[in-house]
Order: sequence, then structure tokens, then C-alpha cells
Amino acid sequence: MRPRKLVWQLYIIFILTMLVPAAMLAWYTTVSFRDFFLDNTVDGLTEQAHQIGSHMEGYIGNSDRQVIDSLCKVLAKGVPTRFTVIALDGTVLGDSERDPASMENHRNRMEIIAAFSGKTGISERFSHTLGQTMIYVAVPIYHNGTRSGIIRTSLSTAFIQRELTRMYRHIALGLFMLLLIAALVSYVVSRSISQPINIIKIGAQRFSSGDFSTKLPPAGCEEIDQLSAVLNEMAMHLRTSINGITEQRNRLSSVLSSMAEGVIAVDTEHRIIAINNAAVQLFGLKEVPGIGTWIGEVLRYTKINDYISDISDSGRERSGETIVVGDESDADTTERLLQLHGNALCDGEGKTIGVLVVINDVTRLKRLETMRSDFVANVSHELRTPLTSVKGFVETLLSGALEDKEESRRFLHIIARQVDRLSTIVEDLLALSRIEEEAQSHTPDFVVTSIADILDNVQQTCSAKAEAKKIVIERQCPDDLRASLEPALIEEALINLCDNAINYSPDNATVQLAVSADHQSNELTFQVTDHGPGIAAKYHERIFERFYRVDKARSRKLGGTGLGLSIVKHIAMVHGGSVSVRSAPGSGSTFIITIPLQRDNSKEVVE
Ligand code: ADP
Repeated sequence: MRPRKLVWQLYIIFILTMLVPAAMLAWYTTVSFRDFFLDNTVDGLTEQAHQIGSHMEGYIGNSDRQVIDSLCKVLAKGVPTRFTVIALDGTVLGDSERDPASMENHRNRMEIIAAFSGKTGISERFSHTLGQTMIYVAVPIYHNGTRSGIIRTSLSTAFIQRELTRMYRHIALGLFMLLLIAALVSYVVSRSISQPINIIKIGAQRFSSGDFSTKLPPAGCEEIDQLSAVLNEMAMHLRTSINGITEQRNRLSSVLSSMAEGVIAVDTEHRIIAINNAAVQLFGLKEVPGIGTWIGEVLRYTKINDYISDISDSGRERSGETIVVGDESDADTTERLLQLHGNALCDGEGKTIGVLVVINDVTRLKRLETMRSDFVANVSHELRTPLTSVKGFVETLLSGALEDKEESRRFLHIIARQVDRLSTIVEDLLALSRIEEEAQSHTPDFVVTSIADILDNVQQTCSAKAEAKKIVIERQCPDDLRASLEPALIEEALINLCDNAINYSPDNATVQLAVSADHQSNELTFQVTDHGPGIAAKYHERIFERFYRVDKARSRKLGGTGLGLSIVKHIAMVHGGSVSVRSAPGSGSTFIITIPLQRDNSKEVVE
């Protein structure tokens, strides 16, 4: 049932409190008044009967019927009472309203029977003679000490009823007036009680919605004022506590969001309590998951979910675990290596309330480690292969092959080729370290140079190799394009890219060498495009590492050292630019070098 408003509850109580006693009083008054009225009527009728009796006493003894009847009719004139005189045998001797001869014997009437026994008889009943309800009072009459007859007085109850109805009407009017006054007074009183409570209710609602700006006003009632004061104080404490908690939360969230490490906290049911932006980025999530989301829905890696379950079950710290993230079904997607450090989250009493996982991206670190170990292994390998070969042929020569001139010449050619290879590797390594040094010392010698001139030199250098494979080098470059750069280095980078493009292109193919300038973004772009085998996306970053080769055997056969692209990358870096590759297996490759077009401190080239 819907609870009723306090004002109406009080209203009903007040009205009932006033009306019920008033109604009871009215009922009691009407009953008492009716009894009093009837008693009074009976007394009056008795009195009248005695008075008539004293008048009739002599006539009754003589049974002078005519005189008695006439006296009855005379005495009843102008009064509502009916008089009847009855002989001791029950015969009616006189009646104020009817002819006694036509009236039957009254011996058996209740009031007459009582009067015969010497008492005053009283009866209320319907009179068939008069056709209405009457009150009868009968008294015995004595003449010379002996009972001589009965005098009966009677009155119609209609008269009494009229009087009573008049009185009921007054009482009903009084009750109605009382109801109106009670309704008004009750409403005023109920409102005066419920109004301050209403004000408190509105204030409490405002507090609960977080608005502590207004205080509850005093209502002028001691208890309510005390309640308002307590609520105001409570609101003040709440505001202080909420401000404190908000400040703490903001501080915590700014610490979390400024952390480079990813942080995820979950409760015992593995629902997220907190997650920072770094974690969202590390797991490559499209949006920040909502608090309360189940972690399994957000991170679909069985390993991390098992990891969290294990810590939550054992309550023990676990660190050093790594997981690989990225779409494993797609080989081209770059995978990331994440290191996890997890611990149980405990409340103030040491009870486990969840798990905290801190995530570090160790992809770069791992890659650097791999690069370093690869580099050492690669250098040793690259140098050992030609050295072993040289050593082998020298030993063969010393052990007698020198005698055979033809064989000696062939061996010496092989030795010379291997020495050339060794020197190419050493030259490339030296070039690389020189460029690296230059990049670190920030002393490059930029001059404003004609790009077309650089491209001429590149084409000339590569022409022999291109012609051997019947490859055409197409060139696209504005004739008057000039840019601020170190021409020898850019030339070397482009030769390396063209050399690769020719090496990896099939015979009769074309290699495009395109240069474009964007003056708005101050960018100069070199693009070398071939129609060779292409490179899978997962190798795009690694091919710029020293000695990294996708197909080792093919690269070596083509005379490559695995250092070419690394040199290109460093040359781009010396120029404050970058190198990238756009390629896919089977669709050729485009290598792109982007460097600034103009510089403030560059010299004009002296032609
Ligand atoms: P290399 O001396 O072996 O060419 P680079 O550093 O120039 O060494 O290149 C590294 C690796 O990149 C090569 O071994 C080859 O696998 C790949 N590569 C470079 N250029 C191309 C190209 N144009 N087409 C296909 N693969 C290429």
C-alpha cells in the first residue's frame, strides 16, 4: 500500500479525535432527552388524570354517564390530551373524542389492568380507534374512600416525535458546524506539524544528491530545530569527507594516468576496480573499459586471466612473467611483449580484496637485447666466413698447390674476392660508425645542393648493374629542385636503396627513383620503388638493423653485407629525418627517405 502523506494522516486523526466524542455526546444527549421528554409527558398525563379525577369523583360514583361524557369533552377543549373515564367493570363512561356507547369494554387494556390493582398504568401502543400510536396513563379514582372508577389520559406520540425531531435537527446542525470547525482547525494544525518535516525532507534530499550549499532553516519547534541542526552538522561532515575522498581519488587517478607502466586492479570476482591509460594502450584497447567490467571480457588472453586467478587464489606475489599481445592470427601485426608484476590487493585488515597487476612494455628492451646479441653473432659470422675461406685456400696453396700455376691463379682470385668482401664489410662498418658519430656530434655539413645532380651520380653508379639485368631506372624529379643536405651521404643512401632495388628486381624490370618537395611542411621525400618480391610487415622494422637479412642466403649471394639499410637509416637520422618502407609480399617495395627541405644554417653550394 502506498504510504499516505503525513499531513493527511494527522488531519484524519485530528478530525476523528474531535468528531467521535462529539457524535457520542450527541447520541447520549438525544437518548437522555427522549427519555426525559417521555417521563415528563407521562408525569403530565398522570397529573392531568388526577386533576380530572378530582372533578369527576362525584359523577363517577353516581354513574351519570351523560354528565361525565360532556365534562370530558369540555375539559379536553384546547388541549392535545384525550380523556377517558372507565367504570370498574371496564365500560367506557365518557371520552373526550368519541361516543362512549360506540367504544368496546376496556377491561383488558394493559394500563387499565394496572389501575384496577391500584397502581398507575402506563402503556404505549397503536390505537385502532384513533389510527395512531398513543401513550396511555390510567389512574384509579376513589369516592368516599372506595375505588369508583378509572381516569385515563392519553397523548399521541406524533406530538412527542415532532418535538424530538426538532431537537435532533438542532443537534445535527451543531454537529455539522463542529465538523466544519474541526476540519479547518485540523488542517491548520496538521500543516503546521508536517510543514517543518517537509522542509527537512527537501533538505535531506538535497544533501543526498550532493548539494551541501544550503543549510536547513530553524522551524520554530524545538525538536524539529534540533533535528535540523543535527542534519546540518551531518551535511558538513559529509562534505568534508566527500571532499577528502574526491581529492584522494583525483590524486590517485593522476598518479595512475601519469605512469608509463600499465596498471590494472581487479576485485575478487575479477571485475575492474581501476585501469590506467597506459594499460589501455599497451593492450591496444579501443576504449577505456568501465569500472565493474569483467576482466575476461576486456582482455581476451587466457594467460593473463590465469595469472590473475592464480594470484587471487594463492594471495602470493608473482613477477617476471611475460605475455605476447597482438593479433596472433595475423602474422603481419607487430606483436608486443609485456612483462607482468602482480600482487594481491589487501584491505586495512589484511583481507584479500583483489589483485593488482603492473605491466611493462619490454618489446624494445627485448629487441635491443636481441639486436646486440645478433650483432655480435653476425659480425663474427660475416668476418669468419671469408676468413675461413682465405685461410683454407692459403693452406691449400702452401701445401703444394702453388706448383700448379693455373690452380694457384684460381685460388688467388677466390682469395682476392674474399678479401674484397672482408674489406666491404669493414668499409660498411666504418661508414656506419662514422655516420653514427656524425649524428651524435651534431656537426653535419649541410649545403644547398641541386637534387638532380645527386640523382645523376646515383644513376651513373648503378647503371652498370642495372644494364646487366636490363633494368631501367626511371627518374622523377623537378630539374630546379635544391635542398639543404649533405650530398655525399644522401648519394650513398640512394645508391644503397637503388642497389637493393636492382638486386631484388627480376630482369627487364623498372626501378623508380622519385623526389618530391612539400614547401608547406618543409619536407623533401626520396622514394625508390621496385617490383621485386616485397617484404612482410613483420620485417619492416627489423631490416634497418645491422646485419639483419630476411633471406640470408640470397642476400649473401647478391654480395650484400646486411648493413646497407642500416647505413640509410643513419644517414636519414643525420639529416633529422627518417626512413620507412611500404611493401607486402608479391607487390614490390617502396623505400621512403624524408628529410627537411630547408635549414637555417646551411651553406650555398659552390658550383
Ligand atoms: P643487404 O646487403 O643484404 O641488401 P640491407 O641492409 O641492404 O642488406 O637489406 C637488409 C635486408 O632487407 C636484405 O637482406 C633483404 O632481405 C631486405 N631487402 C632490402 N631491400 C629489399 C628490396 N628492395 N626488396 C626486397 N627485400 C629487400
